[in-house]
Amino acid sequence: MAYFIKEIFYSLQGEGLQSGRAAVFCRFAGCNLWSGREEDRTTAKCNFCDTDFIGINGQNGGKFYDAQSLVAKVTEYWPFSGGKPLVICTGGEPLLQMDSILVETFHQAGFEVAIETNGTLKPPPNIDWICVSPKANTSLILNYGNELKLVFPQINSPPELFQNLDFQYFFIQPMSGKQLYNNTQLALDYCLKHPQWRISLQTHNILNIQ
Ligand code: SF4
Repeated sequence: MAYFIKEIFYSLQGEGLQSGRAAVFCRFAGCNLWSGREEDRTTAKCNFCDTDFIGINGQNGGKFYDAQSLVAKVTEYWPFSGGKPLVICTGGEPLLQMDSILVETFHQAGFEVAIETNGTLKPPPNIDWICVSPKANTSLILNYGNELKLVFPQINSPPELFQNLDFQYFFIQPMSGKQLYNNTQLALDYCLKHPQWRISLQTHNILNIQ
């Protein structure tokens, strides 16, 4: 199976529990909740996206004809200077393309495999770290994992909908954009009143890294 990859780069995880940890990011092209085109944003199921996931023309992106070639490319960007290699499969929606062969091939190359998903698709087995970021008005198929990261606030998607699901950690992340300051205040207030939830900030934006 071929994999369509928007970009591959080495950076620090900016969000959630693994924030600050070095990782190779592998951004899969395409999403099932938005075409990625501005003209479709208002009618999309998810309309607050801040990521370019269209096509394969980003940094080190391309079409990879099998799992070995994609894993070989990702491996090029891990510096091999200690630490457990981590690949974060993100998007777009990585579960549109990820399969067990790819996860296994990453494992054979020594990588821990993390995903960032909108939770509307089933994952292949053996993923090491599952981060689900649910979107309002969609069916949450993947209702378990390591961390649930709710972009906040979302109409029709209050934290109470998710607080009893089978996750180890629960994060509230202020929605980016023009209302970021207000959303951060709301998130801060919510976490103080509901200690089950932790705040997740987009520290890669604060650090001005990718
Ligand atoms: S689900 Fe994620 S990748 Fe897809 S449009 Fe929404 S924020 Fe963007």
